Amino acid sequence: SADAAMYHVKKSGRANVAYFSEDMNTFSPEQLVLESELRTAVERQQLILHYQPKVDLHTGRITGVEALVRWKHPERGLVPPAEFIPFAEETGLIIPIGNWVLREACVQNKAWQRRGLPDLVMAVNISGLQFQQADLVQTVSEVLEESGLDPSLLELEITESVVMHNAPQAIVMLEELHRMGVGLSIDDFGTGYSSLNYLKRFPIQKLKIDQSFIADLSVDADDAAIVQAIMAMAHGLRLGIVAEGVEREDQLQFLRGLGQGEYQGFLFSQAVPAADVERRLLAQPSSVVVTGN
Ligand code: C2E
Ligand code: MG
Ligand code: MG
Ligand code: MG
Repeated sequence: SADAAMYHVKKSGRANVAYFSEDMNTFSPEQLVLESELRTAVERQQLILHYQPKVDLHTGRITGVEALVRWKHPERGLVPPAEFIPFAEETGLIIPIGNWVLREACVQNKAWQRRGLPDLVMAVNISGLQFQQADLVQTVSEVLEESGLDPSLLELEITESVVMHNAPQAIVMLEELHRMGVGLSIDDFGTGYSSLNYLKRFPIQKLKIDQSFIADLSVDADDAAIVQAIMAMAHGLRLGIVAEGVEREDQLQFLRGLGQGEYQGFLFSQAVPAADVERRLLAQPSSVVVTGN
């Protein structure tokens, strides 16, 4: 069902517009304040993107970045996504927020490319509600057109539940995005309720192994077995892997022993502003910068 249509817009108070989901659950006063603030956050330019590098396990080179949104709140400071993304999904505000993130991330990646920095894959998180929008494919296509970014330098991260809950439409949309040349990866792999058969039916290129399996990888035999099995399966299916949440050298060494892939985590870098990514790229050996400006 096209869930955008499930959102009934209702007047509450003076100029306040609140969104109510189909079951007509109402929000607390605090939530109504949050909703109203978040609604204007995009137009007031309070949202910012930080970028976390993904690094090749064996060469140590940056292969791409993941765009991660933060809310620069006038009183509350830098608010992490866990504190507003779930609410944005509940209220439907994830649609304008997600569109802004997609556009900003593509424009940034094109700007890096224009300045002669090495090509990076820009990964953008797509929430369940975004994935239920019939015009998602059109939106992605427009953003690529406007930004001039090559589709192969954009990757969309979706979770298993997003795929599983919308199976028939999901496959159609994934195939259209795939045909467009956009990369698709499964985020938090291994944590959702899912069946593995979507891996062969859906045009996915990459699995991001959830950080919960990585945390104790080098000391917990069960985690090690799971990660090893995921990497072996990914290899057999010709899928790439990204290990999420690598914080320590022992985890990195263990992963290197298991095979090829990429990692992402505080060991290399947290999510940082664009300028910091640039510095890291320029500091890499043999990164060729062609021109200035
Ligand atoms: P995610 O997509 O799984 O992103 C990875 C999260 O793990 C990020 O948290 C990142 O900062 C964190 N992380 C990376 N390396 C490490 C590590 O070594 N240790 C630990 N403890 N954490 C690490 P962040 O930025 O707070 O984002 C949290 C979640 O919020 C994301 O999880 C994603 O689900 C959601 N999110 C963030 N930005 C967006 C967005 O633009 N759109 C949507 N729909 N969701 C977003
Ligand atoms: Mg992600
Ligand atoms: Mg993840
Ligand atoms: Mg996550």
